Amino acid sequence: MLFEPFKIKMTEPIRILSKDEREKKIREAHYNLFLLRAEDVMIDLLTDSGTGAMSANQWSAIMIGDESYAGATSFYRFEEAVKKITGFKYILPTHQGRAAERILFGLVAKKGMVIPSNTHFDTTRALIEYNEAVALDLAIDESKIPSVRHPFKGNMDLNKLEETIKKFGPENIPLCMLTITNNSGGGQPVSMENIRETKRLLSRFKIPLFIDACRFAENAYFIKKREKGYENKSILEIAQEIFSYADGCTMSAKKDGLVNIGGFLALNDEELAMRAKNMLILTEGFPTYGGLAGRDLEALAVGLNEVLDEQYLAYRIGQVEYLGKKLLENNIPIIEPTGGHAVYIDAGSLLPHIKPENFPAQALSVEFYREGGIRTVEIGSVMFGKKEESGRFKPAPLELVRLAIPRRVYTMSHMDYIANIASEIKNRAQDIGGYRITYEAKHLRHFTAHFEPIQVGR
Ligand SMILES: *Cc1c(COP(=O)(O)O)cnc(C)c1O
Repeated sequence: MLFEPFKIKMTEPIRILSKDEREKKIREAHYNLFLLRAEDVMIDLLTDSGTGAMSANQWSAIMIGDESYAGATSFYRFEEAVKKITGFKYILPTHQGRAAERILFGLVAKKGMVIPSNTHFDTTRALIEYNEAVALDLAIDESKIPSVRHPFKGNMDLNKLEETIKKFGPENIPLCMLTITNNSGGGQPVSMENIRETKRLLSRFKIPLFIDACRFAENAYFIKKREKGYENKSILEIAQEIFSYADGCTMSAKKDGLVNIGGFLALNDEELAMRAKNMLILTEGFPTYGGLAGRDLEALAVGLNEVLDEQYLAYRIGQVEYLGKKLLENNIPIIEPTGGHAVYIDAGSLLPHIKPENFPAQALSVEFYREGGIRTVEIGSVMFGKKEESGRFKPAPLELVRLAIPRRVYTMSHMDYIANIASEIKNRAQDIGGYRITYEAKHLRHFTAHFEPIQVGR
């Protein structure tokens, strides 16, 4: 039986709100969960980014943070931790993942260029497009079908990649990315074989490979459990092999760095590293702190070590799998198999009577709050739906609700509670109605939109 491989030394209270109070709070938030106060949320599954709990070792490392402007001891400890795992020559700390992406793409992405990936994360795509290059998603077809089980659903489609290189020409592809695990595709892992073959293909055309490494340890654990030949390797060895095929990486340490803020850019090319360092100084800070406090770098150095612990990863991946299994037992449709950091409920099939333009996934996420004080996030037509010029509504490809699990924060009994609430909701699914938007911003409307319920038309 799975249990948390840690004891709890410090607790944070959860305020239990009554159903009436929750009803009032969600109405006041215009049925948008981003507009709730965190103190009114009982279980917060909005994101796994920066929401994890630090260990006693990390908190004690914070006390020895060296806050020197230049050459801080904490930087060298951080640099050593990153080098041990990635083997890259140049390590640049940044305040979070997108700062590393901004520096990298500001240097290599130009108009007329194409940057392929299995699937770009939204900040990555936005920064490539901001630099007027084109971001292409080339994950295998299986990644798009929720009910198809595939052990490495995050894999790059190598045929599509080769076609892309031939179509646009290697001179127009400054680098190729691999996102591990594939966040936007449901936290699905990429196999070692696929990473190796991606590198082999790119080498033929002299195109560098960069890894979006946010969840590299979770990906390494999947490789250990699912890929032949890796069952007896340590997570560190697997991670080292992953990075050995790459020329650099960007990282949001808010995920597998096990810290609440931080990131880095790491690479081997000296000339590019020098230019990146100059940008870093311009926008983040001196290269030995890069927008972080010395204590942040200390906590990160410890976190990068702790995340390689197989028992931690067994609990981490096991907890997500456990929640997914409980939902499936209650016939709640999810993306299968469960990925590393979240469970994605297929709201489109749970609430088939709500049309996409009335936002079934938004309706389901509101019900999670109403029924159980649980905050989730809609990944459907609120986020990706569009009104076309003809006035016709173009829905998102899938209507999903993501339950992202923060690292080391919630226990297995919290998972049971979440699954129970999901069943309660399912039992009255046919009575749940849709929503219409009463206010929306021009860009990224999901963060600030206001909604109102519409009468149930079955
Ligand atoms: C979170 C994330 C980023 C961006 O990192 P931030 O720290 O939020 O800026 C980039 N890529 C992936 C895959 C992510 O999950």
